[in-house]
Amino acid sequence: MKAFVIDDRERVDGRPKVYFEERPMPILKNERSVLVKVKAAGICGSDIHIFEGRHGMCIGLKIVPGHEFTGEVVEVGSAVTKFKAGDRVVHEPTSSCGECYACRVGQENVCTNLTVSGCGSDGGWQEYVVYDEKQWHHIPDWVSYVQAALIEPYTIAAQACSRAELFPGDVVLIHGAGPIGLMTGQTAKSFGATVIMSEIMEGRINLAREMGMDYVINPKETNLVKEVMKITNGEGPNVVIDCAGIPNASQQAGEILSPAGRYVVVASGPVHIDGDLVRLKALRVLGSRQQKEQFEPVISKLPIYVKDIDRIISSIYPFEMSKEAFAFASERHPETGKIVVKFD
Ligand SMILES: [Zn+2]
Ligand SMILES: [Zn+2]
Repeated sequence: MKAFVIDDRERVDGRPKVYFEERPMPILKNERSVLVKVKAAGICGSDIHIFEGRHGMCIGLKIVPGHEFTGEVVEVGSAVTKFKAGDRVVHEPTSSCGECYACRVGQENVCTNLTVSGCGSDGGWQEYVVYDEKQWHHIPDWVSYVQAALIEPYTIAAQACSRAELFPGDVVLIHGAGPIGLMTGQTAKSFGATVIMSEIMEGRINLAREMGMDYVINPKETNLVKEVMKITNGEGPNVVIDCAGIPNASQQAGEILSPAGRYVVVASGPVHIDGDLVRLKALRVLGSRQQKEQFEPVISKLPIYVKDIDRIISSIYPFEMSKEAFAFASERHPETGKIVVKFD
């Protein structure tokens, strides 16, 4: 079977080598293993970093990327009861140790010994994979494998909203209308929140509007703070979620958040919030990494999400053109949404 490899053991023009490799068919590792034929995989921002040799957990390694993927079950171990051959599934990429402090307090998504498929270890960019049954979830018949490849990023959005502890009626300001920002906006709306999106790229602004975000503001054209204050009758947003890594987003959030507000960090970037504002308004600053128990809630909400999933997907490549797909993703065209690769 064919695997797509990003090999950072040696570089060409400063980047890891990428190539297809013939590998033996994987076999079940134990009685809880599930063998899956991969059908579709999405390219995430972190995959682009791996492709460019800039991902801290993958530097110097040879790996098969891919943590957002779907497929069809081929064979299951003797103790597997949840799945059978022919089932359609999506992969859950994280696996935790169950013993470290984070695991003991129920935050397995930041486990000290966290493993992530396709990041530090081999992932889904190959024709067949074997993972434990706890790393698979059923997907409904009416969703395509390509559409279902977006379930994993939706779990990241769901985690951000869960960290924000959204209440119906909350006003949420989201920075960045890339795929994760849009999915976070959609998720926040499904919780009954009013969503204000801040984005500077025209294509993304249009997409956010088409997807029904309540307000979409281009901070290059409109005074964002003034506009947000007007929308919230001077109270300020209750939640700010940074999905873009905007340098001054946190400082601004400290100033405009309502008392008891929450600032959620999804994209990397410096955080500078005035301690006096944090204290006086009892603000909470929260990091959101990976996800915990969000697959089933997201899958149950797919009927709401699916009409926009096709809008968020901007290109589909065949598996054989994975190199081209990654190279295109790496060019970071501002209008590019989610790129998905389809197998066979
Ligand atoms: Zn991802
Ligand atoms: Zn742990």
